[in-house]
Amino acid sequence: MTAKKSPQTALVHTDYQAPPGFAAFPSAIHHASTVLFKNVAAMRSGDWKEKNAYTYGLHGTPTTFTLEARLAEIEDGRHCLLAPSGLAAIAMVDFALLKSGDDVLLPDNVYNPNRELGKWLSADFGVTARYYDPLIGAGIADMIQPNTKLIWTEAPGSVSMEVSDLPAICQAAHARGVLVALDNTWSAGLALRGFELGADIIMQALTKYQSGGSDVLMGALITRDRALHERLSMAHMRLGMGVGADDAYLVLRGLPTLKLRFDAHDASARKLAAWLRTRPEISKVLHPAFEDCPGHAIWQRDFSGAGGLFSVLFDPSIPEARTDRFVDALKLFKIGYSWGGANSLVMPYRIAHMRQAWRDQGILVRFNVGLEDTVDLIADIEQALAAM
Ligand SMILES: *Cc1c(COP(=O)(O)O)cnc(C)c1O
Repeated sequence: MTAKKSPQTALVHTDYQAPPGFAAFPSAIHHASTVLFKNVAAMRSGDWKEKNAYTYGLHGTPTTFTLEARLAEIEDGRHCLLAPSGLAAIAMVDFALLKSGDDVLLPDNVYNPNRELGKWLSADFGVTARYYDPLIGAGIADMIQPNTKLIWTEAPGSVSMEVSDLPAICQAAHARGVLVALDNTWSAGLALRGFELGADIIMQALTKYQSGGSDVLMGALITRDRALHERLSMAHMRLGMGVGADDAYLVLRGLPTLKLRFDAHDASARKLAAWLRTRPEISKVLHPAFEDCPGHAIWQRDFSGAGGLFSVLFDPSIPEARTDRFVDALKLFKIGYSWGGANSLVMPYRIAHMRQAWRDQGILVRFNVGLEDTVDLIADIEQALAAM
């Protein structure tokens, strides 16, 4: 650009180029809605689906491509799509794979907003959503209908913690040509090898461990099969599922420490779970690494870790007012949804309202064990039990 620009044009047009010969560990943060093409031929040859070129911010930048590639690698997958939340990623699967007249099966302990989505699809979109016992295993074969297109699984249910037999469900599904989507958020994609066990699509809420900062909402869909990836890509494009560059960067920033953090959460959670098992107020500790948890044997067979999330059931003789007092009395455990960050969290659930099978159980309280010292966390729970 040689001719002198007017001040207004000069404000808009910059000759800024990323410095050549500059190298550093972090990925660069590329903000872009418009992506520039060298010429018309380059514009016409770029295919957003192939990711062989940058075409538009919504279809990816070097920052999001880097994050996608790294997430696919962690799960041993080939393709990855990012969504603005874990729930958006779940919805993208349903809208990509289901149409009016189809049937979808969800575990009865499914992440509750996924159940809500199922209800909406049933009420307004001509899809039937049916719910199966998460411990059904190979018995799922009896629930599969000719119009069943998709089975959701979760590893394990993030409130009541039952561990499903993923290989048995996948085997039954694949025998009938049904796809299986795994919500692998609980294991951060580290402790459960979803594709090896048969899942077709792995969904993760990056909001949790991957970000690790309690500051980002993001989701991912990872696949191995190219044709399936393309079906998901079409929904991704049609629904306009973009993620912001700064958020993608925050998730990238969390990845180097993901395994170390996950293992630290895991070790602390097991210490707390073991301690809680000795308390008379607690009737059951629902932690997949402990025998009380339904599906414990499956966890032992299929998982290599557990992370920081588990639940307890209070003795059924203890009324809700007292367990509420327990939760309110906690000081280090803050009351809040989500998990995977450095801070410990707690949440009481009215589980009897959520599932028939839980009618006569005590109050369920879920703990997300953060990265604080376990001595302090146990002392906090002890004083809150005394206060209740
Ligand atoms: C948090 C969570 C989601 C949804 O993630 P968001 O980013 O909060 O929408 C989905 N599944 C499970 C198991 C989760 O814990």
